[in-house]
Amino acid sequence: MKVLVLGSGGREHAFAWKIAQSNKLEKLYVAPGNAGTAEIAENININPNDFEKVKTFVLDKEINMVIVGPEDPLVNGIHDFFLGDSELNKVAVIGPEKAAAQMEGSKDFAKDFMARHHIPTAQYKSITSENLKEGYQFLESLKAPYVLKADGLAAGKGVLIIDNLEEAKQSLKEMIGGMFGSASATVVIEEFLSGIELSVFVLTDGKNYKVLAEAKDYKRIGEGDTGLNTGGMGAISPVHFANEEFMTKVEDRIIKPTIEGFQKDNTPFVGFVFIGLMKVDNDPFVIEYNVRMGDPETEVVLPRIKSDFLDLMVAVADKKLDQFELELDERTVTTVMLVSGGYPEAYAKGKVISGLDQVTESIVFHAGTTNINNDVVTNGGRVIAVSSYGENLANALEKSFSNAEKIQFEGKYYRKDIGFDLQ
Ligand code: ATP
Repeated sequence: MKVLVLGSGGREHAFAWKIAQSNKLEKLYVAPGNAGTAEIAENININPNDFEKVKTFVLDKEINMVIVGPEDPLVNGIHDFFLGDSELNKVAVIGPEKAAAQMEGSKDFAKDFMARHHIPTAQYKSITSENLKEGYQFLESLKAPYVLKADGLAAGKGVLIIDNLEEAKQSLKEMIGGMFGSASATVVIEEFLSGIELSVFVLTDGKNYKVLAEAKDYKRIGEGDTGLNTGGMGAISPVHFANEEFMTKVEDRIIKPTIEGFQKDNTPFVGFVFIGLMKVDNDPFVIEYNVRMGDPETEVVLPRIKSDFLDLMVAVADKKLDQFELELDERTVTTVMLVSGGYPEAYAKGKVISGLDQVTESIVFHAGTTNINNDVVTNGGRVIAVSSYGENLANALEKSFSNAEKIQFEGKYYRKDIGFDLQ
């Protein structure tokens, strides 16, 4: 099989790493990729949102399958573009069509979906400039803190959690007034859910599904979960508090109605459903849906898949996931993200990375890296994810941390407390 992976992060390196292990693979391309994917695949300098360029490449290289890493091409309708093109419509695309991708593209859409399909989530109201007063009234009816969410994609920054009612009202007005551009023309106000977060990853062919694994990620830049939000500073899988009883609730109350919901709504979903959950007491509530794998969660979830990944992807494309025997690794996998100094604010690029060859007993997934001359250099805020297997959490973390020390670049920073809250 000839496969094209779209994207350039640690997630896409993890996809490429797993796909490269398949004996079904004839040739693997990653667009645009990074220095890590360049070692196991051919990087192609194409922007995943440039559908015409993707098309020309796919036809030229006779690609059989396209796996879409990030959300933007999905929200922009890449799957629909392939289906609507007589030359491309036989190419398998892993990732939902535009209608279902709205689950991530619009929080209002996602909340409406959950209400329609009776999926447990925080109480909410969607507000625009037309019904601002209702927004104030709804805020008054809630207890602090107040959760305000920009409806559209805001690069992970569009959620405000505010303690004071008057400030919340003011922020609501400012968001609608354009604080996040058109993404916050509609704001979803939510009841605050108090609990512990985790994410569940599900793969579906539109009718059947497999639960891949659950994971917990660490979003803040600072230790003890302090400071600014980032794309993710580390992750672990499995999550011990997601025991069988809890995961049965997740499957019955959330996963099944979600997959059935896509069918009932006639919005076909082929690909990865990322369900962000809050465990409140012992019950799961949906915080958000994403329509692709998470990053850095992919760097712990994919290493836990024992089955051949291309066989799995073919089962999805052929809508035969029910016949697929998914094998998961029982071991714990942890990942620790090395980031550029200054991230998530301004940071420098082009710092030479050394020590990669010193790493033992961990998998190095590149994120923001590139090759310049003969060097691997930093090319983004999140630079490298160090993933490790362990018989338990402590053992996996020890490997991730000791290898994180061996990799060097100017300004390197990582959180030394990943997973500590769960030990
Ligand atoms: P992400 O970067 O995770 O994709 P996002 O912009 O899509 O973020 P959400 O995931 O909906 O937004 O919210 C961001 C974070 O805010 C959540 O991970 C969670 O910690 C917190 N949060 C969101 N909704 C609630 C809620 N109703 N109650 C408590 N905390 C919440």
